[in-house]
Amino acid sequence: RRSRLGVYIGRPTETADGHHVELAANIGSPQDAQAARDGGAEGIGLYRTEFLYMGRDTMPTEEEQFLAYKIVAEMFAGQPVVIRTLDIGGDKELPYLTLPKEANPFLGYRAIRLCLDRKDLFRTQLRAILRASAYGNVKIMYPMISNIEELRQANAVLAEARAELDAEGVKYAQDVEVGIMIEVPAAGMAADQLAREADFFSIGTNDLVQYMMAADRMNETIAHLSEPFNPGVLRLIRHVITAAHAKGRWVGMCGEMAGSVVAIPLLLGMGLDEFSMGSGSVATARALMHKLNRSELSRLADEALELDTAEEIRRHIINRVPAVA
Ligand code: PEP
Ligand code: MG
Repeated sequence: RRSRLGVYIGRPTETADGHHVELAANIGSPQDAQAARDGGAEGIGLYRTEFLYMGRDTMPTEEEQFLAYKIVAEMFAGQPVVIRTLDIGGDKELPYLTLPKEANPFLGYRAIRLCLDRKDLFRTQLRAILRASAYGNVKIMYPMISNIEELRQANAVLAEARAELDAEGVKYAQDVEVGIMIEVPAAGMAADQLAREADFFSIGTNDLVQYMMAADRMNETIAHLSEPFNPGVLRLIRHVITAAHAKGRWVGMCGEMAGSVVAIPLLLGMGLDEFSMGSGSVATARALMHKLNRSELSRLADEALELDTAEEIRRHIINRVPAVA
């Protein structure tokens, strides 16, 4: 199977009718980046930086972070590397950060909420990312944005980091794109407004589905509700893509859904620009995309969104798109 898919590695990802798609990988470390390259990813759509902070007793220094980001930027020489700022809290803890005990940690003090409260820590990370931007095509992404105020506050800290580096004469890329994850339903609904101030979106379906369905993504008992093909979820995804395109912004997806073979035709039909997934899924996704005609898929997406259940939507895609079955 590997060798059959191997023919696509190193070729740009296009649909059968010549539409270019960004096919990227999710990573959590520089070691993962090597696997992503070997797997044929054309960039990194999600660099989860929390793993740099975990499994140790002290905060990683700016220098340590800079090196961990720079090495990946260089490895992907000119291809996009989307670095997500710290997404800690929820289920992930750090020994050197005392997080409050909360009844609902996933609805609590996590990700951008924590970073906007601990601006020292956040500024250090932003400085490290900016410095790495001098060595490749780095983009910055904020997790768990709930409203436009958070985006503005985060950008204010980024402006401080830039000003500091300017004052110190440290180089960084001037044109770094700054985007946000769409994981909170209210942010998805307000995508048209957020698109005025964010350079791009990446839809995090793992959290977005959890919050839209009010179903803990770790709870086995209600696993059937963790359903990205739920019509309500799909309508929001379509809205996010449409709203972003209307403002000239690109939209990616870095949740598990992006690597699902049944979801790919549907997401292409909705106009998704970038797909980011585990390295192991990249070759299969590329082979599938090469067989699809994007021009036919927007009708498929329209039809699918009129169906009542996730199961009917899946069936419809499998029936209409032979390459999926
Ligand atoms: C997501 O929520 O879909 C996502 C990609 O982020 P994480 O899985 O790291 O929460
Ligand atoms: Mg998430």
